[in-house]
Formats: sequence, structure tokens, C-alpha cells
Amino acid sequence: LSDAPSAEADQHSSRQKLFICSSFLSYQAADLIIQLSSTPKMKPDVVDFGTVFTDHMLTVEWNAIEGWQTPLIRPFGNLSLHPACSSLHYGIQLFEGLMVYRGDDNRLRLFRPLMNMSRMAKSANRACLPAFDESELLECIRRLVEIDQDWVPCSESSSLYIRPTLIGTEPSLGVKKPTRALLYVILCQAGSYFNTEGKALSLWADPKYTRAWKGGTGDCKMGGNYGGTLFAQYEAGSHGCEQVLWLYGEDHQITEAGTMNIFLHWINEDGEEELATPPLDGIILPGVTRQSILELTKKWDEFKVLERYLTMKQLCSALKQQRLKEMFGSGTACRICPVGNIMYQGKILQLPCLEKSSLSSRIAAELADIQVSG
Ligand SMILES: *Cc1c(COP(=O)(O)O)cnc(C)c1O
Repeated sequence: LSDAPSAEADQHSSRQKLFICSSFLSYQAADLIIQLSSTPKMKPDVVDFGTVFTDHMLTVEWNAIEGWQTPLIRPFGNLSLHPACSSLHYGIQLFEGLMVYRGDDNRLRLFRPLMNMSRMAKSANRACLPAFDESELLECIRRLVEIDQDWVPCSESSSLYIRPTLIGTEPSLGVKKPTRALLYVILCQAGSYFNTEGKALSLWADPKYTRAWKGGTGDCKMGGNYGGTLFAQYEAGSHGCEQVLWLYGEDHQITEAGTMNIFLHWINEDGEEELATPPLDGIILPGVTRQSILELTKKWDEFKVLERYLTMKQLCSALKQQRLKEMFGSGTACRICPVGNIMYQGKILQLPCLEKSSLSSRIAAELADIQVSG
């Protein structure tokens, strides 16, 4: 039993409430129906991120009357949607992103997948989409990956990307909580997310665009956050930069870079060595990689590790006083990505980076080791 009775359900009579509760049974991975593809695809070698999908997908339907239906693994294929479908009109949808790695021992591993499941549950709640059983979903994903396991590459630089998605499928133009939804999971070859393997990122920082705001949905992986920021991404490109460095507020707080969390390794205002990332105050996406870097480096106990606000003014003065060691982004797709320079207020700030002994390469190596060796 996973579905909390909704606020809507509370308004119903108690008899009806009982009915709704008993019908909100979770789907069970044990009930999975599996339909194997009779036409497995060729597996191309090197591809762009997110363009080549595996042979199968997982789908689970939900409706407010019967709750979750039996989960189904079936041949990868198109969805059939009502043209008024609420995810298409109002962006009532969300997604997740995690990787499956093949270890030196040839075993497949997911990296902290329950963190993705619980983040997905939080996004679902914020999007007014139904709650689901996180561990049953993970078990269904495990079965899907098992079926398409030949798609997981044997190389350390590439892996298979898992994209769980939950969409409202209400066949109505009314702006309301969906009474129908579809949860599905697709798998694709990851390749290298940014085509700059080993190269430091260039960022464009301009306060005229905002990725997220207090009270908004920036801390959830909802499609609108990404579609809505694409325009700024292209403007960054027109200035010769690869990604946007997202700033917030009058004091130009540094929040995220592209779709990555951001870390600063520096000597702080008090002369202490510090690794810092902005706190989860609603405008930061709570990255699994971010959390893992915080836990890992705290355990080392070699320098101060903390969540704090960082402004462009602080960054500029640290740069001028040679207190900045490194800045890097973090995320599942790219793991760790050093920042090479930032275009800000008409100037290009050149950042120190790309030393073999840098903190980012040490963290990247440790994370990779956990991902392939468990
Ligand atoms: C997904 C995402 C991240 C990184 O999260 P991970 O769980 O580490 O992959 C960071 N910022 C944004 C905006 C994201 O969408």
C-alpha cells in the first residue's frame, strides 16, 4: 500500500473514502507482465546522448478509481496519447535520470537508485501526480535492465542511462489534478553527455535569466524547468559559451551550471580551505552526485565542506586574490565537470583548473570506483 489518500479523497464520504483506499493498492514487481521484443535492434557503437534506445520499456498505468495497474515490460515503442493529454498542455509531468554501470567484475550496478526514487516521489507530489511505491518501482527497473543488459557497454566512459518518467494523461483541457497518469521507464545509450571529454566548460553568467525561484519547482525534475531555460542556453551558445551559469537575486548568487550542481574549492574569506556548494533552499536541484560528493569529502576530513551561499562578488575577489582552486559542476550524466572560464559583465574570468592532482579529478576517480566496484 503506497498511495496516501489525496486531499480530494478526503472530501468524499467515508464509505467512498474506504473504497478509494482499498483500491489504491500499489503495483507489485512480482506481477510484472513481460512481452519480449521479437526484433532486437543493432547496438551502434558511439552515439550522442539520448538518441539510441534499448529494445524494451516499462509502463504502468494509473487512474484515480482503480489505482495502479499491473506493470508491463514490453517492446520499446510509441505511446498513444489523447491530444488533450494534460502533460502535453500544462507540463504535468516529471522525470528522473540515473545510470547503470558495468563493473570490472562484469556485474551491473545502479548508483544509489533509491535516492532517485525518493526524489521522483517528491516531484510527483509537487506535480499533483499519484504517489507510487518506490522500492517496487526500483525492482521493476531492475528487471527491465536485466532484460536489456546486453545494452550496458563494457567501457568505463560510457554506460546505460535510465529515464523514469511520470506524465498526466488526463484527456481534458481543464487545469486540474490528473485522474489518469502513466509511469514509464526507457533506457538509452549514454555516450558522453558533453562532447568535451577532458575539456573544461565555458559558462555564460547573466542575471537576466532565472532558472528557478523560491517557491517554484526548480528543486524538482519537471520538464518545464528545462524547456523553459533552453532559450538562455542558446544565448550562451551565441556568446561562444557551452552552458549557462545560473545566478539568483540582487547579489548574483551562484546556483547551478546548466543542469549540474556547482562546487567551489577555494580558500574562503577566513583563510580556510573549503569545498562549498549552495544549500538546498528550494532553487537547487538536490543532486545525488552533489549529496555523494558532500558525504565523501566530509569523510576525508581534510578541509572544510559545507553548504553555503556563494556570490559572483565572492568568486571574483577570490579569483583576484588567487584564493580560488577550482570550480566544477556535478551530475549523473557528466559526473564531474571542471569549469574553465566564465563570461560575466562583459569580461571573461579565467579559472584555474585541469590539473591532474585537482580535487575534481580525485572525486571523479573515487565516484567511478564506487560505481564500477560497489
Ligand atoms: C539532474 C540535475 C542535477 C544533477 O542531479 P544528479 O542526481 O546528480 O544527476 C543538477 N541540476 C539539475 C538542474 C538537474 O536537473
